[in-house]
Amino acid sequence: MSAAREPQNANSRSPSPRLPRLALLVLALMLFAQQAEGQFRKPVACDDCIWDWYYYDHGSFAVQDWSCGNSTYGDHIGSDYSLRGNNDAIDTGNDVVAAAAGTVISTEDGYFDHCTQCGGAQCGLGFGNGFANQVYIDHGTYKAMYGHMRTGSIMVEPGETVECGQVIGQIGSSGCSTGAHLHFEPQTSSGTAVDPYEGDCSPTSPSLWIDQGAHRDLPGEACGDGEPPPPQCPEGTYEVWTCNEAKTERRRCIDGVDSTEPCPAGCVAMAVGINDECMMPPDGDGDSSRADVDCDDGDAAIHPGAVDTCGDAIDQDCSGADATCMLPPTGGVGGAAGGVSAGASGAAAGSAGIGGQAGMTAGAPPIGGAGGLGGVGGASAGSAGAGTTGFAAPERSSSCAASPRGGSGRAAWLMLASLCVLAIRRRALVHRDQLGV
Ligand SMILES: [Zn+2]
Repeated sequence: MSAAREPQNANSRSPSPRLPRLALLVLALMLFAQQAEGQFRKPVACDDCIWDWYYYDHGSFAVQDWSCGNSTYGDHIGSDYSLRGNNDAIDTGNDVVAAAAGTVISTEDGYFDHCTQCGGAQCGLGFGNGFANQVYIDHGTYKAMYGHMRTGSIMVEPGETVECGQVIGQIGSSGCSTGAHLHFEPQTSSGTAVDPYEGDCSPTSPSLWIDQGAHRDLPGEACGDGEPPPPQCPEGTYEVWTCNEAKTERRRCIDGVDSTEPCPAGCVAMAVGINDECMMPPDGDGDSSRADVDCDDGDAAIHPGAVDTCGDAIDQDCSGADATCMLPPTGGVGGAAGGVSAGASGAAAGSAGIGGQAGMTAGAPPIGGAGGLGGVGGASAGSAGAGTTGFAAPERSSSCAASPRGGSGRAAWLMLASLCVLAIRRRALVHRDQLGV
């Protein structure tokens, strides 16, 4: 039988004769039953990692568990939860949790944890009362022993406060054990072992479990304070980042928060207890943008943040599209009109072509973009728009050619242009008068 067993002399409590022990138990239960209403949750984290049960033995002449069945063995005074997969499953890590809130009384760790025979090499009776890697917790009304755990898995220290459902270690087969299992043993404050199960063949009533569950099944996981059980991390996860087998991602789980990060360039395993690292993607073209963000890692002129030249059909800044060139806004027309007007005044003064030409150039893209803004925009832009045109005319018609500089937009410019036309006509009249025409 692969079941775990503790011998009668595995600890100091078991060798006592059966009848006095039962009498003591009944007395203890009378004292504690009233305040012993269900307080324990199942002492393991898993739902289906337990496949066999060995309860407290109440039989006098034959074994008898709490429900009058035989799922126990002679003189066993705890509840054994046998691990599915036996010793082969120890290394997968199967959490043992505190069955209730409490304070850690003592712990032991460091014993060989793949025992198959009680009293064998490294699995002798002398190892910590036969429970070897163990946690002993004061849960208030009761204490509880959690025994035979996995080497190096004990996560709590004496004096430490634990919450109901908190992971305290993992299932193993250390000490006096024939196979991987958890030995859970509630005790009275004086150290007498108590069967937590209520049943026809158990003196315990009511059950010490909050939700006892069926015979050969696990008790419920809810804790007595009404709070949901603390979140648990899946088996096989760790608190440090750990690469997956394919080295394509890394994963960690802390307090039930299970996270995965992709490692597209590979994952590098580090020493135990240290975060595994995602490899940095390469920077093929040396432009300081690595391959995972560089849209062309073979061209150093192309990377996020680069200046994108518009209209060349190349997406230099990795924005997803080539930059759009700015079309001349409405003001471009104004610039052109300014040029034409200035040209017109120039024509009246006898040097038309240059002023007009300049005006047209200023209004045309791409340079005209600035000129055009001037046409729409106001004083400063207006001077820009008129700038090119204005220079053509000042010598000949200073008052008119310079006038756009003082304008404050298209309306002002048109008004000034009109005034110029009037002035020119007047000059022409004067000229005619002088000539006597
Ligand atoms: Zn046991």
